[in-house]
This record gives sequence, C-alpha cells and structure tokens, in this order.
Amino acid sequence: MLLSDLLRAGPGTSLAGIDPRSTPGVKPGRSKDAKEWSRREVAKIGADLARYQEMLFANAKTAGDLRRVLLVLQAPDCGGKDGTVKNVAGQFNPIGLRIAGFGAPTKEELAHPFLWRIRNALPPAGYVGVFNRSHYEDVLVVRVRGLVPRRVWARRYDTINKFEAELAGSGLTLVKVILHISYEEQRARLAERLTDPEKYWKYNPGDIDERGYWRDYQEAYDAIIEKCSTEAAPFHVVPADRKWYRNWAVASLLREHLAGLGLKYPEPDFDPQKELERLETAT
Ligand code: ATP
Repeated sequence: MLLSDLLRAGPGTSLAGIDPRSTPGVKPGRSKDAKEWSRREVAKIGADLARYQEMLFANAKTAGDLRRVLLVLQAPDCGGKDGTVKNVAGQFNPIGLRIAGFGAPTKEELAHPFLWRIRNALPPAGYVGVFNRSHYEDVLVVRVRGLVPRRVWARRYDTINKFEAELAGSGLTLVKVILHISYEEQRARLAERLTDPEKYWKYNPGDIDERGYWRDYQEAYDAIIEKCSTEAAPFHVVPADRKWYRNWAVASLLREHLAGLGLKYPEPDFDPQKELERLETAT
C-alpha cells in the first residue's frame, strides 16, 4: 500500500484519533536502530527525489512541460517544519527548488486578497516548491485568533478549494502535509529551546501564548481536513513526534507523488550521432 493512501486524511479524520508517536508504514521492530535506518533511507529516497526533479526540470526546459510540484507544510509551533525542510527538501538540487515561508502578512500583503502572496510564491514550471506555512494560516491562526470576522474566514475554505483545483488543473501537483505533534512533545521542544543556549534564538515568547490555544488549533486543523482534503489535493497527516519517522514519511510521500508523474528524460530534438560527428570535425 502506498504511504500516501495510508496517511491520507478524509472527511471524519480528526487529529485526536491519530497517535503522534505512531509510525504507519514502518515495519514493527524498527525502533532499535530507527534513527540510523531513517537517515539511510532518506538519503536513498533523496537520490530518487533529485533524479525525478531533474527530469521535471529537463522537460520544462526543453519541451515546455508545465508540470511542477509543491510541498505544503503546516504544523503547530515546534511541529518540525524547519527540520523537514532541512532534512527532506535538502535532498533536492537547490537550483530547481523554491522555498517560501509565510509569516504574519506585511502591510502590502494585507492590502491584497489572502491568496495574493501565495500565487506570487508558486514554483514555476519544472520546479519543486516548498511552503513553510501557507494559505492555510488564513483559516488557522486567523480563525483561532479572530483576526478577521468569522464570515470572512468561513468563506476561505471554498476559495482555497477552487484555487487548489485550478492549480491541479494547471499541472501543479500538491503534496499537502500536516505535521502532527502532541501537546507533550511541543512542551518538550519548547523546554529544549529554553535550556540550550544555542537554541534560544528559536524561542519566541509568543509561542507560550499560542500554546494556550492548543484545543482551538486542533479544531481549526480538523476543519481544514474536513473541508479542504479534496480529491484534487488531499491532506496527509504525518505523525511527527518522532523526527526520524517524520523525515522518512515526508520524503516517501514526495517520492510517491513524483513517481506518479511518470517522468522520463526528454527525447532530443537533434540527432546526437550527427552532433558528435560535428563536434569531432569542428575546428
Ligand atoms: P516558524 O514558527 O514557522 O518557524 P517563526 O516563529 O520564525 O516561524 P515567522 O515565520 O516570522 O516566525 O512567522 C510565523 C508566524 O506568522 C506564526 O505565528 C504564524 O501564525 C504567523 N502567520 C502566518 N501567516 C499568517 C497570517 N496569514 N495571518 C496572521 N499571522 C500569520
């Protein structure tokens, strides 16, 4: 069974029903050497990712192929988005990679519809994109913190579904991932940021305030799963308390989606033999 089928969230999926420490798709008995196993596997998968990415790029460059891939990462604070970008997205060739992060909107961004900054950051044809946070913030933090009236955010689920269907129709493969960590794991990671001087820089006092809204966030995540895990762009919930599992799972999800594109290196629009002869005879 494909991991994307195993982790796919559908109507009725609730984060509360998924154990953040679970490791779906991994053979039981892995836990002894799990970290080392995952490092090796991710490196192997990474070689495939880079090869698929090159084919994607080559087809866009030589044949006008419009296809592109976008990994959308959503997670609570300390959910492991940065670690996933480093360990998984780091397997791709940086030349063909577009990484975008979305913080609180700037004045200019607020003056536009919420998808404006998202459209501007989409990967071009042939590229792999990664969104560290995304348009889903506009129905997560915005909903939980009441940053706009309910009637405004409530319309956004539909707007997002239409937008993503349009993207899927234009050759963009969306790989939407929610990194699912437990309340206890978030506490442990925040505590680490407060006890290791080399991690102070990662700490933001606002994270403790956000943590106070944990239940509201879980509800808001359930709502995006219920409303926006569509056929064209389903969500995948990756249990993420165990970093080794998270890295393996996200890398595997990407490989499955790229493999599903049936990519090949493009045929040349010249005769390589003739060109070789020209090379030999050219002065
Ligand atoms: P991260 O936690 O993702 O590593 P960070 O703590 O370094 O990021 P930024 O990337 O600057 O901080 O901003 C992230 C913050 O921006 C989060 O608190 C997030 O909720 C907030 N944010 C993102 N999108 C929006 C939005 N559309 N409206 C309001 N706040 C948003």
